[in-house]
Amino acid sequence: MRLPPVDTDLVAAIEAVCASVGTRATDRLAAAHDASHYLLTPQAVAAPASAAEVAGLFATSHARGVPLTFRSGGTSLSGQAGTSGVLVDTRRNFRSIVVLDNGARVRTGPGATVRAVNTRLARHGRKLGPDPASEIACTIGGVVSNNSSGMSCGTHANTYRTLESAILVLPSGTVLDTGRPDADDQLRTLEPALYDGLLLLRDRVRSNPQSVATIRSLYSIKNTMGYGLNSFVDHDRPVEILEHLVIGSEGTLAFVAEATFNTVPVLPYVATGLLLFPELSAATSALPALVAAGFATIELLDATSLRVAQRDPDATDQLRALRVVDHAALLVEYQEETPDALAARLADAPAVFGGLTLTEPAHLSSDARRRAQLWHLRKGLYTLVAGNRPSGTTALLEDIAVPVERLYETCRELTLMFDKYRYEDSVIFGHAKDGNIHFMLNERFDDPESMARYEAFTEAIVELVLGQGGTLKAEHGTGRMMAPFVRRQYGDELYAVMHEIKRLIDPSGLLNPGVLLNEEPDGHVRNLKTAPTVEAEVDRCVECGYCEPVCPSKDITLTPRQRIVLRRELADAEASGDEDLAAQLRMEYSYDGVQTCAVDGMCQTACPVLINTGDLVRRLRAENQNPVMQAGWKTASKHWRGVSNAGGMAMTVADAMPPFLSQVATAVGRALLGPDVVPQYSEELPPGGTQRRPIAAENAVAVYFSSCTNTMFGPVGNDGVSASFLELCERAEVVVATPDDIPSLCCGTPWKSKGLTEGYDAMKGRVTASLLRATRDGELPVVCDASSCTEGLRILLESAQKSGVRVIDAVEFVDAEVLPRLPAGKKIPSVTLHPTCSSVHLGLEDALRRISEAAAQEVIVPDDWGCCAFAGDRGMLHPELTASATARQAAQAVDADTAAYASLNRTCELGMTRATGREYEHILQTLARSSSAESARASLS
Ligand SMILES: Cc1cc2nc3c(=O)[nH]c(=O)nc-3n(C[C@H](O)[C@H](O)[C@H](O)COP(=O)(O)OP(=O)(O)OC[C@H]3O[C@@H](n4cnc5c(N)ncnc54)[C@H](O)[C@@H]3O)c2cc1C
Ligand code: SF4
Ligand code: SF4
Repeated sequence: MRLPPVDTDLVAAIEAVCASVGTRATDRLAAAHDASHYLLTPQAVAAPASAAEVAGLFATSHARGVPLTFRSGGTSLSGQAGTSGVLVDTRRNFRSIVVLDNGARVRTGPGATVRAVNTRLARHGRKLGPDPASEIACTIGGVVSNNSSGMSCGTHANTYRTLESAILVLPSGTVLDTGRPDADDQLRTLEPALYDGLLLLRDRVRSNPQSVATIRSLYSIKNTMGYGLNSFVDHDRPVEILEHLVIGSEGTLAFVAEATFNTVPVLPYVATGLLLFPELSAATSALPALVAAGFATIELLDATSLRVAQRDPDATDQLRALRVVDHAALLVEYQEETPDALAARLADAPAVFGGLTLTEPAHLSSDARRRAQLWHLRKGLYTLVAGNRPSGTTALLEDIAVPVERLYETCRELTLMFDKYRYEDSVIFGHAKDGNIHFMLNERFDDPESMARYEAFTEAIVELVLGQGGTLKAEHGTGRMMAPFVRRQYGDELYAVMHEIKRLIDPSGLLNPGVLLNEEPDGHVRNLKTAPTVEAEVDRCVECGYCEPVCPSKDITLTPRQRIVLRRELADAEASGDEDLAAQLRMEYSYDGVQTCAVDGMCQTACPVLINTGDLVRRLRAENQNPVMQAGWKTASKHWRGVSNAGGMAMTVADAMPPFLSQVATAVGRALLGPDVVPQYSEELPPGGTQRRPIAAENAVAVYFSSCTNTMFGPVGNDGVSASFLELCERAEVVVATPDDIPSLCCGTPWKSKGLTEGYDAMKGRVTASLLRATRDGELPVVCDASSCTEGLRILLESAQKSGVRVIDAVEFVDAEVLPRLPAGKKIPSVTLHPTCSSVHLGLEDALRRISEAAAQEVIVPDDWGCCAFAGDRGMLHPELTASATARQAAQAVDADTAAYASLNRTCELGMTRATGREYEHILQTLARSSSAESARASLS
């Protein structure tokens, strides 16, 4: 059975110590999946709110004999973040970030992502040392526990080197702050056996020359196999040894409740270049010279990588023109603190390149676009290989390191092995200066022949890497994947030391068993994940978890990854005839998966294979729409002028009613027709707005498309965005007209997001015809004053194959056409800005910044900005979704206490007003006020 029944006594015991525990099929199966190719289904998912609750979970684990595994970002690739015991979500409630000493140090909770921490540090010119490519989603807990690294941090700036101190919760329940001056004494007092045991182990290791030699050799390169035994050689005091053993221990020794890092400077002056070599040996031979020349990153791309990269539509001309035979490339980058330092490096570069065997002259560029294009080649490899893998296969990202002088031979052998085992498109790329390379395999785990091939290949890899004096895991952690091979890498003595460490700290072995140390010789091929072919929108998903932090429903129901994996689980349950499970999953998915998805597509902005999970949800909504809704909304689309007016009037009536009556009316409607049909009215919603009126003008330079949300929801103050936009245009003497039937037009988003295909098609026909007429067949641009409607209109016109009509957002239009012609006004002191998901999709960041800076002296975007999930009417249908999505940024917005609050989409403004109690307006309203004739006069006086 896929889902064993829940042990109710166990659940009761967990609930006694932890307030949030999930045991539904959806909770357990959604959490079963991480970025690795392993799949273990937990019995329950606990989300502790404090270190004390974690200590309580340890006690329950011992009392009940049930294993615990911590899960944070779930981006680990080696199987260390999954369990069939209790999974402990350590991301949800541990996201604090405190910048210390002007950015020189930072103290964070384990659930904060690397990106969130670096965002806070950036304004101090600092960042974390560890720089994993997964920074958008991986968290401090995972980075510490995997000792993660990346392109430039090497072994000098990883967690082992840059962690200043940590608060640890040991399996015994002892809480230890290693940053306290008396921490060593405290450890001796609280855990005497552990203290003495660590001293004994330290002396045992140090007194064995063979052990010391092995440690020195293996930790001279990046190495995350087994426990960090270098702790015994590098540190004397037990508390320091313990802290450094926990680094890279993959959640098998302790809970990291807080971590304080020493940070490193951001090096803003950069120059990047692609060096092309006729063959791999020429590239690897160049490494010593390039390292000596001070390049911060040196990334290898083998011949297969170059061939794959050539398929990328964004490939450089230089790469496209290359006829790849045995070629290889190194992507090199200087990163310096000052322009002078960079200039000095650039001056020396030609001499360095002159000594290399290149196929063509090399250039270094500081141009942002050129650099982005070059990095895209390297970073896009994963996307290209994983995204184009055959459906039904799992993408594996391998990670090894060898001494740099062995890199060539290792890569050459690897390439031969790919041929021998028939792995196609297995690109080899990685951090060449550290001898750390990655390669990709697409494999299926559902047939014996593929399994046999994978096992044989793994054995061959182990032979190859260990034969070269390398490590089987350089930065991704041992996990389940390499645990059976730790003994082979370290030998019997050091392997025994590792077991002794585990026995000392976690004597009952209940913390993440099977991970890092595993006596089962086939532990690495148990509990493997299969990837069923389910639905076109999401079959490419590699379950990496990059999309999770940006999703507005992540804290209330599901993340995009979870929405996808539950569809896979449902297909699996249906295929295996487990109808009870399938029925339960379908029922739970209706709210968790479908109703609480904002279909805002933020997930796509983070996804390496560009999946928009909202597309899946939209289709599911369409499939589940009942004929009455379809017909009703189709009729509405035909009479949109009347319907949008009626909507506005209804808001006015509700606004005028005693609050209690309007609440009762909506409650009755929701009870009768369902919460996904009838919106929840709430007091802060404004009365309706005014009807849109056509404007005719002979000499118009643009066609103005005011959103119908301005009719339904009245403005803040007297003038809405429409009045402000027209006023700004008039002052700048920019003439605009509207479509002659503007009151009956809509961008179609309400139909599209609900999956109401018939009404959408009807509206699409009307809007397309009207805009072709108004723009004189695309001669004029269409300017829309609500960002989600701008996006909706673009999609509508593209799907109507009338791409001749160009749609731009009013913010972009005002930035380009109006702002340069406006006299300077008196800026308001400050504004808190809420960019929208659509403004991100539309790439409006720069224009929005310029408009905001023209309106206010200080512009604040909350650090925890994210999509508000109001999503047209979703915030009214499910207010709890918006409340959850906005909680963190709302607190920061209120704290900012600025003179104005602004966004660029009416419904998002309503969502943020509700969340903060501050009136949000459109940023063009703020600009119109600050640049008004009166304010201009005020600025002169
Ligand atoms: C596409 C892709 C690219 C990647 N690139 C890199 C890269 O460039 N460099 C690199 O080093 N890694 C990389 N990784 C691997 C992975 O992202 C990192 O190892 C990351 O640091 C894991 O963090 P996480 O928050 O996802 O942790 P999780 O996967 O949730 O957990 C990792 C381990 O830490 C334990 N753990 C988590 N939180 C705690 C805690 N608070 N206390 C104790 N134990 C805890 C878990 O039990 C688990 O064993 C990549 C992964 C992917 C999918
Ligand atoms: S569309 Fe939005 S709410 Fe839906 S899964 Fe993607 S990010 Fe989450
Ligand atoms: S949807 Fe994309 S980002 Fe999210 S888990 Fe799948 S592949 Fe990763």
